Amino acid sequence: PPDVETLGRGTWTLLHSIAATYPDVPSMSQQSDLLSFVKLFSKLYPCWVCAEDFQSYLGKEMPRVQSRDEFGKWLCGAHNEVNRKLGKPQFDCSQWQERWRTGWKD
Ligand code: FAD
Repeated sequence: PPDVETLGRGTWTLLHSIAATYPDVPSMSQQSDLLSFVKLFSKLYPCWVCAEDFQSYLGKEMPRVQSRDEFGKWLCGAHNEVNRKLGKPQFDCSQWQERWRTGWKD
């Protein structure tokens, strides 16, 4: 399997990209699909210590799947929790769409 860092970078790209393409106004079935995906993901992620910590985070902070921005901010918070654990800088979650969806304006 790929190392934990390569796996992590690729996985965050996938997860934040799912947030970026999630609807602003998701249907009930889209909301339940996303919730199921996150829960199954947390059981199947092939870095077991990572998966264990992520599952306990899910127990404390229920995924918010009511809209794109709610989910994107929730995911940003989950990513920041891992950043904190690893001693990496906190990401400003008000900027998640610029990073993952619309691109930085400059
Ligand atoms: P990454 O953390 O991979 O981030 C990639 C890019 O995302 C960054 O360059 C930045 O542009 C952007 N970004 C950073 N923070 C945020 C944020 N909060 N919101 C939105 N965008 C952001 N590694 C371990 O060693 N131990 C663990 O327990 C562990 N648990 C993990 C759990 C999960 C669910 C995942 C997906 C990964 C986990 N990892 C873990 C891997 C770790 O999070 C990093 O992916 C890895 O260390 C590589 O880090 P990086 O510095 O390249 O940037």
